[in-house]
Amino acid sequence: MSAASPDASPAPSAGADDHRVLTPATELLSPEAAAAIVLDGVAPVDGVYDVPLAAARGRVAAGDITATVPLPRFDNAAVDGYGLHAADLGSGAATLRVIGRAAAGHAAEVAAAPGAAVRVLTGARVPEGVAAVIAQERTVRTGDRLTVPQPPEPGANIRRRGEDVAPGTVILRAGTVLDARHLAILAAAGIGRLTVRRRLRVGVLSTGDELVEPGVEPGPNGIVDSNRPMLTALIAGPAFEVVDLGAVADRVEAVAGVLTGAARHLDLVVSSGGVAGSEADAVADAIRQAGGTCRSLKLALRPGKPIAVGRLGETAVLALAGNPVAAMVGLLLFGRPLVARLAGAAAPSRGGFPAEAAEPIRHRPGRTEFLPAAIVGRTGDGRPRIVSLGRGGSARLLPLAAADGLAELAADDGDAEVGATVRFHPFATAFAL
Ligand code: AMP
Ligand code: MG
Repeated sequence: MSAASPDASPAPSAGADDHRVLTPATELLSPEAAAAIVLDGVAPVDGVYDVPLAAARGRVAAGDITATVPLPRFDNAAVDGYGLHAADLGSGAATLRVIGRAAAGHAAEVAAAPGAAVRVLTGARVPEGVAAVIAQERTVRTGDRLTVPQPPEPGANIRRRGEDVAPGTVILRAGTVLDARHLAILAAAGIGRLTVRRRLRVGVLSTGDELVEPGVEPGPNGIVDSNRPMLTALIAGPAFEVVDLGAVADRVEAVAGVLTGAARHLDLVVSSGGVAGSEADAVADAIRQAGGTCRSLKLALRPGKPIAVGRLGETAVLALAGNPVAAMVGLLLFGRPLVARLAGAAAPSRGGFPAEAAEPIRHRPGRTEFLPAAIVGRTGDGRPRIVSLGRGGSARLLPLAAADGLAELAADDGDAEVGATVRFHPFATAFAL
């Protein structure tokens, strides 16, 4: 039995061959303390590449980037309308003559003068003599006559040179994982190539005598390995090269053999299964047999109480519990910060935001608990109202697939009653980049 099972109650030892060691709750590590151990002594990998902007999405910026040009590069019109001379910005209505035109991408034909306005289009360089631009919908035009019922303030609707970015401004910090927004500002600032960290090489390994490959019909006592596809997908991204290390039986030599090979070329191995401490659990011993160091941790966390953290030469090892929800929670809580640190990326935030329990959510104090949860509505002030799904089943996959995210119940709290505030971690948001 896995210690990660949410219903694992601390029953007394059942017999001589019962390998469970009862661990008082006070000896369990908080997830925060465990995360610090996971990150202890871990440094970003070496190696950078110069890539074109088009290949930079999802990569990690290797250095700060400073703008050498102002943005905008010149004063330009913020609306389609008319450029007016300072002499025509008094308080009363004005009737002016339209004397020419300035469009985006073209030099202005004329300069504004008292009584003479210039037709300007959004993005056009502001013509000489223009003190403000009035939006066309605030004017009435008949032929080349323009009536302005209410003149604009000086400077209105003019985007000033450098008002967005002054030269010398840091527009991208080292460690930023580049997304669409960063590509936009870099392009605008004239950056066509940039230096990014090399891809992190991460191996994903499953352990367990019971496991068969996806697509293979398991025997009478077997199950299909579902953690490897899940963990691979959770890690996958432009900044990573994920290597499939397969599923290995619960034998120390077998696991050690795979780890020894992996340590030659990988920065990190993430494994699942085989860390709960029973006689079948081989991972910690295998790390040591392969010549590495390893710490087995017991966490005040449900699911995902056991994890092991190791190192094999230059390769970090994060060994997670085998139950699927435990493996997912372990990856989110410990794997994400670890890959971010190794990849030279800024630390990801713990995330989550307050939601409200729409039904009671049972929680025994003592361990931080993560439960698949679905959004069923909104409170008056817009917070999601959530219900937990699949309580009592860290091995259950359907609640996870049906959920919108994970509810987090703090270790010290008891049951969350209807209306109680519960932290919620959405799997995705509508505007995810
Ligand atoms: P363990 O952490 O090895 O004690 O495994 C706990 C539970 O998770 C057991 O029911 C295992 O069969 C299951 N399990 C372990 N590895 C996987 C995997 N890769 N895919 C799906 N279930 C797994
Ligand atoms: Mg196992």
